[in-house]
Amino acid sequence: MPARNTGGRVASMQGSCLCGAVRFELTAPFDGVVHCHCASCKKLSGGGGTTSGLIPTGEIQILDGEELLRTFQPADGKAKTFCVSCGSNLFGAGYPESEASAVRLTTLDSGLDQQPRAHMFVRSVAPWETLPEDGLPRFGERPT
Ligand SMILES: [Zn+2]
Ligand SMILES: [Zn+2]
Repeated sequence: MPARNTGGRVASMQGSCLCGAVRFELTAPFDGVVHCHCASCKKLSGGGGTTSGLIPTGEIQILDGEELLRTFQPADGKAKTFCVSCGSNLFGAGYPESEASAVRLTTLDSGLDQQPRAHMFVRSVAPWETLPEDGLPRFGERPT
């Protein structure tokens, strides 16, 4: 278990889906947070894309509703996991098989003291979408 308080950082964060049946806890801070504007994230998010924190998959502890988790494996790209009851998009980047996963920030119920560090897949920015002038680096695809 991580220390309860490391320099003001909350030791664990909790998240849930829209219907509340799936609840989980993150037992480590994110390795990084990014905005993704790719076509897949648009389809599954209902908006311009997703904003996710990257974390080792083992640091995601499902507290409730594990039986409601469904994973979709697109022909092209990483697996995405959602709640079958309400459709909330929860995890990406290959969860649960991958070593590291992406946790959608929209699922978090507690405060986050980490800020996004980049916009990726800006080649897929939609005609109706405007990138914010937030000074963050922008990558056409996934930064290497
Ligand atoms: Zn749900
Ligand atoms: Zn994406």
